[in-house]
Amino acid sequence: MNKLYKVKASKIDKRGLIAKKDIKPGTRIIQYIGKLITKKQTENNIKFDNDKDIYLFNLNSRYDLDGDFKWNTARLINHSCEPNCEVEGKGLEIWVTSIKSIKKDEELCYDYGFGFDEDYRQFPCKCGSKKCCGYIVREGSRWRINKKFRLSKLNR
Ligand SMILES: [Zn+2]
Repeated sequence: MNKLYKVKASKIDKRGLIAKKDIKPGTRIIQYIGKLITKKQTENNIKFDNDKDIYLFNLNSRYDLDGDFKWNTARLINHSCEPNCEVEGKGLEIWVTSIKSIKKDEELCYDYGFGFDEDYRQFPCKCGSKKCCGYIVREGSRWRINKKFRLSKLNR
């Protein structure tokens, strides 16, 4: 099968995935692959204790998918505050699917979906979009950061 993406240097992070050709909205671009682990394994594994679970996806009530492996090319996709892709679960499969028309050479991004908590500052966002809130936080929680920004300006 002809791949729709290639790995390239990225402005957002060291590497990212770039569209190899124009992609229509709703296209499955790459499968997010990894190892199936049970929730119990997730709970008992120290690997998932720290940081955000960047590569860990919740599949259903029993299983998670750990995508933290070199052979999972999709893990190189960067976060953006204005993403052109989303991650979609289909049974035990996870696909990165386009949500917009993507032009050739455009970088593929999705919203990592991090919740807002006290350590959000550990994850600065360099997506460069006009909507960027400065940190990797899911769309529904970004207002909290924007509010903080506004308040810190007022107090100056
Ligand atoms: Zn951003």
